[in-house]
Amino acid sequence: MDGAGLARRIVDESAATAAEILRRTGTAPCLATVLVGEDPASVTYVRMKRNRCARAGIESRHVALPADSTTQDVVAAVTALSKDPEVHGILLQHPMGPHIDERAAFEAIAPEKDVDGVTMHSFAAMGFGLPGFVSCTPGGIMRLLDAYEVGLPGKHAVVVGRSAILGKPAGMLLLGRNATVTYCHSHTRDLSSIVRQADVLVAAVGRPRFISGADIKPGAVVIDAGYNEGNVGDVDFGTAAERASLITPVPGGVGPMTIAVLLEQTVTAAARRFGLS
Ligand code: NAP
Repeated sequence: MDGAGLARRIVDESAATAAEILRRTGTAPCLATVLVGEDPASVTYVRMKRNRCARAGIESRHVALPADSTTQDVVAAVTALSKDPEVHGILLQHPMGPHIDERAAFEAIAPEKDVDGVTMHSFAAMGFGLPGFVSCTPGGIMRLLDAYEVGLPGKHAVVVGRSAILGKPAGMLLLGRNATVTYCHSHTRDLSSIVRQADVLVAAVGRPRFISGADIKPGAVVIDAGYNEGNVGDVDFGTAAERASLITPVPGGVGPMTIAVLLEQTVTAAARRFGLS
């Protein structure tokens, strides 16, 4: 499944909508990025996201906070952005450091600006099937499944991993589309036998080549959200591709979709702010 190609199309569409918003309101959509400290991976992620924004005609405003910022400092910075009418979306990069209450920091994001889908409000809206912003990686996974017209009702979807930003919401979105969902995690017994039943498999573990091709049901759709050192996913692509009907590569699968959904949701937030959607 060509995540890179689909992501390009989504970014192109978002750029066209951003240009239309600028033309009609005189204001470009604006994403605020907040980075606490200078973790090299986080610095790179934020730079990448801001570069993509620039190419799509989305302005970005960067707030860099020192590593020794307190929870109150971060909450204050995010609250100011939540109140700023010129900011349409907020991305608070994490991890933020063990001394910071990340949940408190995320909850300072106004729901209508939560374009990364990290607040309890967004999570609950997704759970209820109400409009709101979804966590970007699970949102990207669903867009891929839709683009390839993967029928979900009645299918057995197995999600390996249950993090709040990835595995858990991915399973909830699949459930919302009438798949029968099984979650696996580090306490799951006989993981192989469950993975072997999957019509749709979502791997979100963070362990290189953790799932072998021998466990892929012939004809299954395999979504590999893992991104591990050495640019490898959680699924052993070579052996899994021999059995899967559709499979995402790493890189070029789920990864680019995450940023595309972030940009799309930023443009949507701006359009809603101006009453254009
Ligand atoms: P995480 O918070 O570390 O969660 C990992 C999940 O895997 C946990 O639910 C954990 O179970 C489960 N797990 C760990 N060992 C297991 C085992 N032996 N058997 C079964 N389950 C096991 O990671 P994450 O943030 O969800 O990320 C997962 C992967 O996705 C990483 O490779 C990450 O880089 C990648 N990722 C990619 C994107 C993207 O844009 N493409 C975005 C986010 C993440 P417990 O809950 O029981 O601990």
